[in-house]
Amino acid sequence: MITCIGGLRRPAPLLMKAFNDSVWRELHTSSLLPAMNKPMLPTAINVQTPLLNPTIKTVGIVGLGLIGGCLALDLKRLGYTVYGVARRMATVNAALENSVVTQAGCDLALMAQVDIVFVCTPMALIVPTVGQLATHLSESAIVTDVGSIKGEIVVAATDLWPNFVGGHPMAGKAEAGLAAAEACLFRGRPYVVTPIETTSSAAVDTVIAIATQLGSQVYRSTPLAHDQAVAAISHLPVMVSAALLHTCLSEPDAEVKTLAQEIASSGFCATSRVGGGNPELGMMMAQLNRSALLQILQQYRHQLDAIIGLIETEQWGGLQQRLTVAQQDRPKYL
Ligand code: NAP
Repeated sequence: MITCIGGLRRPAPLLMKAFNDSVWRELHTSSLLPAMNKPMLPTAINVQTPLLNPTIKTVGIVGLGLIGGCLALDLKRLGYTVYGVARRMATVNAALENSVVTQAGCDLALMAQVDIVFVCTPMALIVPTVGQLATHLSESAIVTDVGSIKGEIVVAATDLWPNFVGGHPMAGKAEAGLAAAEACLFRGRPYVVTPIETTSSAAVDTVIAIATQLGSQVYRSTPLAHDQAVAAISHLPVMVSAALLHTCLSEPDAEVKTLAQEIASSGFCATSRVGGGNPELGMMMAQLNRSALLQILQQYRHQLDAIIGLIETEQWGGLQQRLTVAQQDRPKYL
């Protein structure tokens, strides 16, 4: 466990490892982290830092895995009293032994004393956990989450706890669990906050202030816009890359296919990497972000058709223009 204070806006790129058992970790490491060097330019949705609500002193973390552990380490270092709830006693003990949290246990009743709770369980458990928390929390408590897709979560969680604010810290590692937690993981990384119409602005300000204290660059968007953006930069590349692999695999001429496999080099390696990853990951993307993914796949098909049309009709000027725009604008995503 390392600690650090002070702000690096643009952390060095991480060396990504091969995959492991967690779909969510891979979702972030394989597809989102290549954006780590993106300059943090102000945009229309970039959020100003509000002052931290001084009444927030005690923070709860439910789910002491990678993300929950990283949050706990940073928040404790920032001076908050941090209560953690894990599923297994082994995780509780490890969190206490390593001073990741101030107090920990397996019972959500521990959250009765906190001012704000970060729900850091696997995605499918976030809404049920908010429902279970509702019987334990003080009336003024804020609940926020760290789930990687927001549309499925925010409305359902707000129904269960009106003082809910959706959030997504966009940082990760190849490893899972508390043992992989480290300080400052969120520093210099985007943190998207996704309020809806009914969300309390005071609660939103509090979440933004805490994310800013973590050193994150905070963005505010609707859950839908978040899910569409993630579909474009993370989920679409996986499907396109898988389709590329299938195209090559379906080559009918055995000699051509074998030769292609022998001579494939760095370009093919780069463009096929995310499509050749964990199938479970792609399934999760498609199932949990189905509508945004379908929409962006249709747009992609339209782009592909336009390129086919230009080549069929030998409109080389039009093709050149498209390729030039692609070359010029690619850095906007890097
Ligand atoms: P993780 O390392 O596998 O941790 C998940 C933790 O949840 C485990 O420590 C587990 O506790 C705990 N847990 C499971 N069921 C629970 C329950 N019923 N009550 C309390 N705790 C429970 O996963 P993660 O990578 O931190 O991901 C957690 C969330 O962060 C997901 O919603 C994901 O979408 C989001 N996220 C992930 C990344 C990433 O790259 N990893 C980035 C941003 C957001 P035990 O140890 O006791 O089993």
